[in-house]
Amino acid sequence: MAAERPAFTVPGLTDAPRGNVRRLVFVLGDQLDDEAATFDGFDPAQDAVFLAEVRAESTVVWSSKPRTAMFLTAMRHFAQALHDRGVRVCYSRLDDSSNTHSLTGELDRAIARLKPGSVHAVQPGDWRLDHALRERGDVSIHEDRHFLCSHAQFAAHAKGRKQLRLEFFYREMRERHDVLLANGEPEGGQWNFDADNRGSFGKTGPQDVPPAWSAGRDAITEDVLALVNGTLAEHPGDLASFDWPVTRDQARSALGHFVTHVLPRFGAYQDAMWTGEPWLYHSRLSAALNLKLLRPMEVIRAAETAWRKGRAPLASVEGFIRQILGWREYVRGIYWRFMPDYVTRNALGASQPLPAFYWTGDTPMACLKACIGQTLEHGYAHHIQRLMVTGLYPLLLGVDPKAVHEWYLAVYVDAVEWVELPNTLGMSQYGDGGVMASKPYVATGKYIQRMSNYCAGCRFKPDTMTGPRACPFTTLYWDFLLRHETLLARNPRMALQVRNLGRLDAPTRDAIRTAAEAIRANDGTPPGAA
Ligand code: FAD
Ligand code: SF4
Repeated sequence: MAAERPAFTVPGLTDAPRGNVRRLVFVLGDQLDDEAATFDGFDPAQDAVFLAEVRAESTVVWSSKPRTAMFLTAMRHFAQALHDRGVRVCYSRLDDSSNTHSLTGELDRAIARLKPGSVHAVQPGDWRLDHALRERGDVSIHEDRHFLCSHAQFAAHAKGRKQLRLEFFYREMRERHDVLLANGEPEGGQWNFDADNRGSFGKTGPQDVPPAWSAGRDAITEDVLALVNGTLAEHPGDLASFDWPVTRDQARSALGHFVTHVLPRFGAYQDAMWTGEPWLYHSRLSAALNLKLLRPMEVIRAAETAWRKGRAPLASVEGFIRQILGWREYVRGIYWRFMPDYVTRNALGASQPLPAFYWTGDTPMACLKACIGQTLEHGYAHHIQRLMVTGLYPLLLGVDPKAVHEWYLAVYVDAVEWVELPNTLGMSQYGDGGVMASKPYVATGKYIQRMSNYCAGCRFKPDTMTGPRACPFTTLYWDFLLRHETLLARNPRMALQVRNLGRLDAPTRDAIRTAAEAIRANDGTPPGAA
């Protein structure tokens, strides 16, 4: 049901009254929190807020229609809410004819118009913009208080460690923030219930999937969807089913829905996948969190309270909290510790282009078709779809990790570089050589068969490595082990998989290599299967 709301009425930069601004708060699209450090001491009588929509943020960093729409409508709602409260807000719209279409260009225009005494911004979520703002020298960059681990705390954690691993970081975070603890010990007697989080659905499929949370679309969102469809028509993705929380109130409502109806089943089926069920028992809160509509601790406490009140099992609640208190903070720490060279890492020397079907979903491989299809339709796939379907395939194929990174950054509504890059280049592509993950996440099509029903509707056979019905994941898995045998043999966690190569005789190895080469030469699809 569409909520009633007037269309966007915040003044554009060109119409803004000139001068008289004491502090100008420059709010980026992933910083929509009026309790951010830049708002400390904010005085509506003297200070102003500036937001800018620019084409470069959708083109320099290629961005799908759902992702761009998510940012723009959330920004407009945020600006409108401040404006309604009497805050002086200036806003550069994408369709403003004076728009320079670069964030620094728009900031220059805002400074020229408003003549602020000082300009303030929260640290951007990507290195490129952080660097650009710092280089200018006229913007005070404030720490991003949204996060639960500061750069200094992460540096202290990393100091003296040869390897960074989530598990140790996560325990520290539980202790520091007193989450799921009883007298300093983990609730339930163990820190991690990961072993309980890997269930699949069996033949009957998922049962009682709760209805998806929905806010409908108000006039501001409808305007943005029309704008994006009009001005970014050539960008991938579809807006017909756009239905994300785009205000803080909506995000809190989505959180409440998740905790009440979905969280109890989150844990057991965290890794499972099913055709036609894009959400299953996932929270869909990542975009709201990354745009700062929600604060991580309020999400964590809501889940913890559900367990304490007996409304959700500990394995689900711990599994969910681990993602936010653990993984989310951990990947951010990795990003800022290893940038800017992190994005250029390519430990496996992968150089293939990303198959063209990643932008269309037009592939005979049922698993990829389903996961890419829902990604383009909704701007969403859950973690195992991202890691073990759309991520696994380019890893096995040998795609340049930077090309994979650019796809992930473009297509998901929650994509911001600090979180996307370590997950893609590190966890999924092993491009960082083991900083994020202790071994490459590689598997044959049989893993996908176990965790989903995709293979039942596919022309390929997940247990077959060569021949016309061979599953490309399975062919490429064995080819991956053959190509990287020497490197992988040095990793004790890969020992079993590498040992299994010994079972393959020379003709089988040749047949695998030939089949894999044919897939590579045919843009990632087995010849004759398209
Ligand atoms: P849930 O399954 O309900 O999990 C709850 C929350 O935990 C998420 O909302 C998210 O905030 C956090 N979370 C879970 N896993 C991770 C993780 N590995 N790293 C950081 N936070 C996590 N997440 C993003 O927010 N933005 C991205 O651009 C992004 N790119 C990814 C790329 C790849 C290749 C992979 C493997 C994972 C990526 N993730 C990314 C992590 C994860 O897949 C998404 O956070 C999750 O699927 C979002 O759906 P959800 O909100 O329903 O999550
Ligand atoms: Fe995917 Fe292979 Fe299963 Fe087909 S058989 S759905 S390609 S894993």
